Amino acid sequence: MIKAPTGTNDILPDRIPLWRYVEEHARKQCALYGYREIRTPIFESTQLFVRSIGEVTDIVEKEMYTFQPKVERSDNPAKENSRESFTLRPELTAPVVRAYLEHHLDREQKSQKLFYLGPLFRHERPQKGRFRQFHQLGVEALGFSNPLVDVEIINLAQSFLKTIGLDGCVLKINSIGCPECRTGYRNVLRKYFAGHKDQLCANCRERLDRNVFRILDCKNKQCYEIAARAEPINNSLCAGCRTHFDAVLAGLEKNGLSYQLDHHLVRGFDYYTRTIFEITHSALGAQDAVGGGGRYDNLIAELGGSPAGATGWALGLERIILALEAVKNSNLIIQPDKLKVFVASVTQELGSESFALVSELRKKNIAADMDYEGRSLKAQMRLANKQEVSYVIILGPEELTKNAVKLKNMQSGQESEVQRDDLFDLFLKKNMI
Ligand code: AMP
Repeated sequence: MIKAPTGTNDILPDRIPLWRYVEEHARKQCALYGYREIRTPIFESTQLFVRSIGEVTDIVEKEMYTFQPKVERSDNPAKENSRESFTLRPELTAPVVRAYLEHHLDREQKSQKLFYLGPLFRHERPQKGRFRQFHQLGVEALGFSNPLVDVEIINLAQSFLKTIGLDGCVLKINSIGCPECRTGYRNVLRKYFAGHKDQLCANCRERLDRNVFRILDCKNKQCYEIAARAEPINNSLCAGCRTHFDAVLAGLEKNGLSYQLDHHLVRGFDYYTRTIFEITHSALGAQDAVGGGGRYDNLIAELGGSPAGATGWALGLERIILALEAVKNSNLIIQPDKLKVFVASVTQELGSESFALVSELRKKNIAADMDYEGRSLKAQMRLANKQEVSYVIILGPEELTKNAVKLKNMQSGQESEVQRDDLFDLFLKKNMI
């Protein structure tokens, strides 16, 4: 039997209500803060990710699903052989910035607050909370340099997580400065890691010259331990970055948002500048990050726009759902979609009568269904019970001659004969329409 690819998940109907619960709250919270939804393609030009995330990063070096269509159809035959390379999106910040610039949203209004919900793809080693296809909710505040916007997006993430009932999240925050601060810091790091070269993994030994910052987020245990003892960048922050970071922390405090300073916090993308943060939850185990984000003040210009500050985050939906299930918040009530009415018929010949009634119910916005498999009345009642419907309407030849039906209240078990013409008035009274 063909199975789903390793590291991917089917979200089966029973679990959909929980997903929808999270997604609907996400949309509501984002709207509350003035963020509008954007949807971009599942795949993009490979170059978009190489240029934004950075060539010497785990994602670009090892984790991208990249492909070249065999023949590219184009109106221009000369282009047919250009064989552009595409990549399934491993993150959504760069695609959102691309769309913002491509559609000149920046000209309409430079500062734009956007959010997205959707799947991403990374060729990682699957484990609990780490998949090859996963979903993120993300926000991007484009064209904003004000530190208060960093506070706003953190506030949005925290209030969203709280609203859905995920208490106990921890915010870790750091500043990684700007390219100016990093010039001096690069040398500090090179010198430090050169002193531990023999203990670093082969990848990091190579990164020493190519992109020393990426050693800081190597997943290899020994590299991680060495990196944890490196001097943090905070000592090298320039005056502008320090002022910005102080303003972010003051804003968090003023708004009652607790945080933990983590001077060793780094993120696995090259585009980050200044504020970076991660939100963790202890119920998740080894992969404890629910989400993360930060500023990327140079990305808009790097992708061809005029220089403008920006900040954003992404939360992993699978991890949110895992954590929600682990904390078992008793206030969390998720209503599955249920049928209201099941129309059962005493004899198979009444099938078309049932069908007409089911159609009428649906037209009146009452979720209804019937049996198409010729089940006995008893089996139909069992099915209705299993589907947890509120009412069963039973059509029988005897009642039909009187233009009536039998109505069974499945909760009380009470049965009554109702004139067909009165049926909808009755439902109206019971607030079913
Ligand atoms: P990142 O885009 O790497 O900053 O990740 C942001 C969030 O997305 C993480 O904190 C996780 O919650 C989630 N995430 C990242 N990679 C994966 C993955 N491979 N599987 C599941 N969730 C992921």
